[in-house]
Amino acid sequence: MDETTSFQNLLRKLQEPFPSEIVQHRKINGRNSSYIGTDAYVERLNDIAGEYWNWTLKGEPTVYEKEIMVIGTLDIMGAKRDGIGTADLKYKGDSFTNLKYAARSASQDALRDACDLFGMGWKNLKTISVDRQGAKQDVQEETPLCQKCRQPISVIQQKWLQDNNIRLLFCENCVPDHFKK
Ligand SMILES: [Zn+2]
Repeated sequence: MDETTSFQNLLRKLQEPFPSEIVQHRKINGRNSSYIGTDAYVERLNDIAGEYWNWTLKGEPTVYEKEIMVIGTLDIMGAKRDGIGTADLKYKGDSFTNLKYAARSASQDALRDACDLFGMGWKNLKTISVDRQGAKQDVQEETPLCQKCRQPISVIQQKWLQDNNIRLLFCENCVPDHFKK
């Protein structure tokens, strides 16, 4: 490792904006939501961090009634962030029909989440470049976003999370059932 390869250097390069065509859009509950695909994050990690990054799943996936949850650790030069990911499970009768696919999908979701915790993609996803009046301005999003669907979390929901000692950020729609009392 040469002297210029420091964690701060890597981090700064990892946090560079992605080309705008990388950002994907989908509608969740009638609202537009933007995200960056796992492949783009992995490509960025390989390009910038090369052999200095690693992704490991923490324990076995947890299977809940309707979804599977995976926690993984992204390690970049020894700095670690845990990402959490979920995916919906499908049944036929009593057995899952998509367990393998769902586990993989949840793992990818978790890796995206961990990349987010390193600040990757923020310059694309957390900046509103044009406001409703059409005036150009850069507004840094201050409302916490749901870690699953990336929608802003309402003040009431933030309070609910606090009251229930839930440190993970989930909107009303995405709170996993096991958190609900
Ligand atoms: Zn959500």
